[in-house]
Amino acid sequence: MNSDSPAADALAQSCVLASRYLRGLSTASTSPTAPDLAAELPEEPGDVADVIAELFASLIPGVMPSAGPRYFGFVTGGTLPAALGADVLASAWNQNGAFATMSPAVAAVEEACARWVVDLLGLPGQASVGFVTGATMANWTALAAARAHLMSRAGWDVTQEGMTGAPPMRVVVGAQRHSSIDVALRYLGVGVRQISVVPCDDQGRMRADRLAAVLQDLERPVVVCAQVGNVNSGAVDPMNEVVDAAGAAGAWVHVDAAVGAWWAASADLRQQLRGWERADSWALDAHKGLNVGYDSGIVLTRHSAAHRAATAITATYLPETPGARDGSLWVPESSRRARALPLYAALRSLGRSGVAALVERQCSLARLFADGLDGMPSATVRNEVTGNQVLVSFGSDHRTDRVIEAVQHGGVCWMGGTTWRGERAMRISVSNWMTSADDVHASLAEIERCLVATAD
Ligand SMILES: *Cc1c(COP(=O)(O)O)cnc(C)c1O
Repeated sequence: MNSDSPAADALAQSCVLASRYLRGLSTASTSPTAPDLAAELPEEPGDVADVIAELFASLIPGVMPSAGPRYFGFVTGGTLPAALGADVLASAWNQNGAFATMSPAVAAVEEACARWVVDLLGLPGQASVGFVTGATMANWTALAAARAHLMSRAGWDVTQEGMTGAPPMRVVVGAQRHSSIDVALRYLGVGVRQISVVPCDDQGRMRADRLAAVLQDLERPVVVCAQVGNVNSGAVDPMNEVVDAAGAAGAWVHVDAAVGAWWAASADLRQQLRGWERADSWALDAHKGLNVGYDSGIVLTRHSAAHRAATAITATYLPETPGARDGSLWVPESSRRARALPLYAALRSLGRSGVAALVERQCSLARLFADGLDGMPSATVRNEVTGNQVLVSFGSDHRTDRVIEAVQHGGVCWMGGTTWRGERAMRISVSNWMTSADDVHASLAEIERCLVATAD
């Protein structure tokens, strides 16, 4: 192509292809196949327009329409129109969001997002905020900050002394924590044997009445990891009771709120979260219920000095700008894309009431799923549907797995499987902004069809 901006041409071409894809997204098959890519690295340069066209054509059979309304796997958000538009700008601008000198625009947008998120969710106004890839890194950052804080209180400077000879850090978790907590702890040098597990109730909520007993036996310093939104059931830990018990032991309370954080924007749903704002740190995902595209996680802490001590990068050639936000001080990465831009656009386009309406719709559609399943022969809804998650079993483990497999091959909708309280279950996560009651009814009909098809 003969142009004054080959990059603009490539973008225009990609936008045409992407728009065509998005127009068919609602009805795209949820049963993709592995694509066939060129096996060898080419020796010679290729024409850009050909590369883009070929990329699209060869990959499209393997693209899972997880951004669409009938994808209920894992906890998967789509991407809101404003967020997608902002994501394209972020790619075209290709700003480095590490330091304010590199991009005053990114510094400003992160600053606004930090204020808005804290305000929207009712978290402490002085919270330190970092924009990370997802909740796994948010959990890591928060736990690294917890370690810095607790060690410093015990007279140990982790930055200078490292962990050899440090007072042992004890970690208390619920039996139904997300596995990314274990991974984050592993990255921090905390092994499985240093983790104390508090039993959960039948919905996967930490039993606060058992927490105090576990804490009693531990030497300080202690971190308690609570959860707002179980990845399977959606259940929320009793936050006030957890914070009360932890506070009595001088523990740092971390909340993994990857699933349920945005419920705090709804007057109705926020009742379940009462007391979560009293914690010391929070891990959030914007790429789940809020429907900002990947990758978008947020970490917040009540202790900015410890947060900074855990993650800040310093070098003489990396100047901090007084009065401006240097984003990389609050995250484990240095160079990074302007991932707060789509978040900003999402919040700007939804407003406070839009976020509330979005999460309330997800949760009411989850209840619509549960009601529909309740009427099906051999289907048993396994959880109290208080959020966006539904767990359902179909008589036996074998049958449940066969139904899941049949649904996954059917192409109408996509649901995953899990093991819940010792038995197999289908997981239905209503997280996409596009999902309507019609999508739920069509998906229920598909589950019913698969139930019939797998009958012995
Ligand atoms: C998804 C999830 C995580 C991990 O989040 P990523 O964004 O995949 O890193 C952590 N905790 C819970 C409860 C989750 O649902």
